[in-house]
Amino acid sequence: MSESSETRGFPTAVQPFGELQRFGPVTTDLETPERALAICAHPDDIEIGCGATLAKWAAKGCAIHHLVLTDGSKGTWDADRDEASLVATRQEEQREAARRLGGGDVGFLGLPDGELRNTIREQWEVARWIRQIRPDVVLAHDPWRRYRLHPDHRNAGYVVTDALVAARDPLYFADQELAPHRPRALLLFEADVANHVENVAGFEEAKVAALLTHRSQYETTLGLDANAEPEARAAAEAAFSEQIRALLVEHGALAGIESGESFHRLEV
Ligand SMILES: [Zn+2]
Repeated sequence: MSESSETRGFPTAVQPFGELQRFGPVTTDLETPERALAICAHPDDIEIGCGATLAKWAAKGCAIHHLVLTDGSKGTWDADRDEASLVATRQEEQREAARRLGGGDVGFLGLPDGELRNTIREQWEVARWIRQIRPDVVLAHDPWRRYRLHPDHRNAGYVVTDALVAARDPLYFADQELAPHRPRALLLFEADVANHVENVAGFEEAKVAALLTHRSQYETTLGLDANAEPEARAAAEAAFSEQIRALLVEHGALAGIESGESFHRLEV
């Protein structure tokens, strides 16, 4: 008898614990949450990852919360830039971006940019935010995206996924004296494998407008020149807007819709 997968212990397609992982079919449009909490590494990550989705939900009455884990103090190519003033500028840009997405509270943990780690301390902080805000949906970086270079994006994803497991069970971080909270869903943006798309038709402009509030990031992230003459800047911003819209078309196509933001959706 030839050796079958069964004789080695487990059928190859079945893991010892848990079900075989299957991705798909792609789902669309969660029921509009009452409260949503988007958590990211730096100011501007939320707008890039899920800005149009937040704008859509805000327009339908969802209370939106942003939580930015680091202080964004490395977000410049200018070695002489004053760090404290950069941090203040980026916080103000994030608040304005949230306004342009239809409103929302913005919180900052203020951890050092570039040095974010997934330790029990960061998990404790994020679990506390989840238990206090009690969101129906949490949105965050996908920590499992392959070949991701920036450590903060990777680690922010791990902090949130680990904090979420803690937040939903009463014996984790009991010292917080807060009731546990289990969100309905976790949407991971920049997904390695997308299995969910939010239709964002009509909210493309809000996403672009929110991204363009991050003037301090024009050069480093958005590929724009903040000091260009007004006419040249307007043309560059229009081209940027087209680029973002084209991306949303690509994401939407995963689910056969015209304009979307894609995610990996996990049930919590
Ligand atoms: Zn970032």
